[in-house]
Amino acid sequence: MTGEKYDVLKRFFGYSSFRSGQEELIDAQMEGRDVLGVMPTGGGKSLCYQIPAILMPGITLVVSPLISLMKDQVTALKAAGVPAAYINSSLSAGQINKVYQNLLEGRYKIVYIAPERLATEGFLATAQRLRISLLAVDEAHCISQWGQDFRPSYLRISEFVGKLRRRPVISAFTATATERVRRDIERSLGLDRPLRIVTGFDRQNLRFEVMKPKKKDEALLALVSERAEKSGIIYCSTRRDVESVSRMLRDAGLPATRYHAGLTEEERRNNQDDFIYDRCGIMVATNAFGMGIDKSNVSYVIHYNMPQSIESYYQEAGRAGRDGLDADCILLYSARDIRTAQFLIEHSGGSEELTESEQSKVTEQALKRLSEMVGYCETDRCLRGYILDYFGQKHPKTCGNCGNCDGSFSEKDITGEAGAVFECVRLVRERIGYSLGSARIMNVLRGGRDKETLALGLDRLPVYGKLRGVSSDALREMMESLKTQGYLRVDPVHGALFLTPRAEDAVRRHETVTMRVRGKSADSLSAAKRTPAGTEEDGLYAALRDLRYRAAKEEGVPAFVVFSNATLRDMAAKKPTTESEMILVAGVGQKKLQLYGKRFAEEIKRYLGENGG
Ligand code: ADP
Ligand code: ZN
Repeated sequence: MTGEKYDVLKRFFGYSSFRSGQEELIDAQMEGRDVLGVMPTGGGKSLCYQIPAILMPGITLVVSPLISLMKDQVTALKAAGVPAAYINSSLSAGQINKVYQNLLEGRYKIVYIAPERLATEGFLATAQRLRISLLAVDEAHCISQWGQDFRPSYLRISEFVGKLRRRPVISAFTATATERVRRDIERSLGLDRPLRIVTGFDRQNLRFEVMKPKKKDEALLALVSERAEKSGIIYCSTRRDVESVSRMLRDAGLPATRYHAGLTEEERRNNQDDFIYDRCGIMVATNAFGMGIDKSNVSYVIHYNMPQSIESYYQEAGRAGRDGLDADCILLYSARDIRTAQFLIEHSGGSEELTESEQSKVTEQALKRLSEMVGYCETDRCLRGYILDYFGQKHPKTCGNCGNCDGSFSEKDITGEAGAVFECVRLVRERIGYSLGSARIMNVLRGGRDKETLALGLDRLPVYGKLRGVSSDALREMMESLKTQGYLRVDPVHGALFLTPRAEDAVRRHETVTMRVRGKSADSLSAAKRTPAGTEEDGLYAALRDLRYRAAKEEGVPAFVVFSNATLRDMAAKKPTTESEMILVAGVGQKKLQLYGKRFAEEIKRYLGENGG
């Protein structure tokens, strides 16, 4: 059996080794055991049930929440030579009946189905006559009321299983972190002593960065222009921002399209296709976009606003680099994002199925998740490390591939400035008998002539104008740092500043005070320092990409269904000109070899001939 599994992996999917967790999950299902696989987005969950599906004698049903996901998966499976189909509301009654008939005739190995379809009489009647070997539940966290994507129809899956003649093996897959949701999945699906595998959440090809630009639009435009040839997603938290950002990009001549729940279904579908088929390189969208979008060549994901949780962030950012090539995940953060997120959480309609007290629990949990997200934006530790901590995975202290640990930070001595700030806070309080907020303190230090300062006689303090030479932005950042380092405390109601014992100690003991500052490169985009993946510019790679484009167009499928970028890159490196060389390329299986092998090999021969390879 071990051999068979590897055969299938190579023959249908073109890969020669398994990723972490895949093999164990496949083996367990083949032995008849239920499984729960927790893997990050892009971790390779689909193979974990597709390979058993191909090897098991009966049919595999895959429950999946989104129509677009099914369609893509089925297209990709058929392209790889696996007989597959899907059943959801996008099909007419006639088409659905045809699928039922084919099912009964044993024409499929894998059938994707929307959860609400399981309960329909027509399907149940068909299912009861089938030999179902495996029921795989994708996005299984949708079953939990505590998760973010609760779907009541998922709760009926086990009811459906109960009506079958024979209980199939049940496998569940999710990328969600919390223990509570994982427990809900096991209980609600009735998993029987499942093998639980939680695989690495680390995606080493993703580079994380948080930027705090003064003007988000300008920063975004620069980021996107630099990546003109590439495909990327820009997430905004409101429809209004989607509208204005996509307009801005288009006005600048960039190929941007948009997606949010306020558009007609037709426009959403068209825009999504434009993006997936690479007719438009840039998708500006709310979080309504992306679940189930399997586009492997997304090379950056930029968040125009902070999302509401690390889970959402990692899932959305994780849509970059699914082909394993270097990709950027950049978050443009401003303090205003916190208020927007809070508002969205507190005003989200909630679920009608929850009681009031359950609802307030849900809101409370959402706010907790939000504060973890804010922590990510404000931390000066390794960003990857912060995420892995959240998912409960161990990691080295620094990763060397994120905005906080790739050298763009340095330690700056601010003892003098900090001393002036501390003195100012102390003297103001002595003079007027109460404390002022940051803005006023800054005015005094920078020698402001505003009414308030003069009226209170603060211009006569010895610290007045002492930091005149420091720009207001630099001073603001410094005070922020003094707050996060615990030298200053802010009254949460009035915003007034107080010294903490730590500040008093520092002054008394003449301690050095420092802060971490971003190097110049941080604002001018450290990603620009990296050369674009060498082979992208390679002529052969470009020629193969053109050929892929033509082939995809002829067949009316997305480019990644032909070959992924990673496959093209491997092909450009190995330069196969015969069938036996071609099959060694990662991502080239038997069917793809048959369909495209010759054509691509010829293109390589032609290229080498013309370029003296
Ligand atoms: P998930 O469903 O977990 O988000 P997918 O199943 O869509 O992820 O897999 C993501 C990508 O990784 C796909 O392009 C898939 O072909 C690829 N992949 C999966 N398993 C392997 C493997 N063993 N070797 C190489 N690539 C793989
Ligand atoms: Zn790092």
